[in-house]
Amino acid sequence: MMCAAAGALLLGMTACSARKPGSAAHQPPAPNSGRPGTAPAPGAKLSYSQFKVPGPYIAITFDDGPVPANTPRLLDMLRQRGIKATFFVVGSFAVRSPQIIRRIIADGHEIANHTWTHRALTSLGDSGVRSELRRSHDLIVQVAGAASAPHMFRPPGGAITARQKTWIMGEFGYPCILWSIDPRDWESPQRGGCKGQPWELTRRIVSQAKSGDIILVHDLHASSVDAMPATLDGLLAKGFRFLTMSQIIALSQGHALPGGQGGHGLANAPTVKPPPLFTPGGF
Ligand SMILES: [Zn+2]
Repeated sequence: MMCAAAGALLLGMTACSARKPGSAAHQPPAPNSGRPGTAPAPGAKLSYSQFKVPGPYIAITFDDGPVPANTPRLLDMLRQRGIKATFFVVGSFAVRSPQIIRRIIADGHEIANHTWTHRALTSLGDSGVRSELRRSHDLIVQVAGAASAPHMFRPPGGAITARQKTWIMGEFGYPCILWSIDPRDWESPQRGGCKGQPWELTRRIVSQAKSGDIILVHDLHASSVDAMPATLDGLLAKGFRFLTMSQIIALSQGHALPGGQGGHGLANAPTVKPPPLFTPGGF
């Protein structure tokens, strides 16, 4: 549903960016066996779009980067607030900006797989889907190290079939990550979106957010990053605490947060005034 323009842009650039990400030597094995036909573990949850969590926890996710004009300044905004996020990166962009990938990791965020060229996976056969995911996975490992290998993916536009989710989990060990809040920052105001209107993006996110949400934002778009200071401050002021996708998945499964409850200790010390304490029922 999202990213028609982004998809066209990304597809348009692949001809000039389709160089090999580098030697395949020293690459670690895939999360699972990596063999086609591997079945997922019994009971494995294949997909997430929202969580039940014991507190005011949310996950903010940034898609379609890294973009040199946007992503580093977004990282500054997150660092100033001690907020950790998850970046669903496009491999054909990541290969051009490995230093941004390394900074995302160094700043304590999570990297996840958003394919190599941002094609709709429902338009591809299994070998095409496999290539889109494998190429990005291997590039991220090559750039950021095996410890930062992606553990999940997001299908471009949210387009995915149940059968694809199953074999991708079996082969890559990836759950499919969707979202519960899409402010449509990829769509023009004339079509109901808020692209180019950072104040409206902030309003949509802050007014809708509730515990357990996965928020979708695109660091591909400058106006979306422009909206982040007010958006992040608005969410903090409402008492929300930010977790990475792996953290919120673990919390939803009953695991304790590292560093104690409340999300403190997960992040670098915030350099801005801490938000008011969470009040149950306050949002
Ligand atoms: Zn996307």
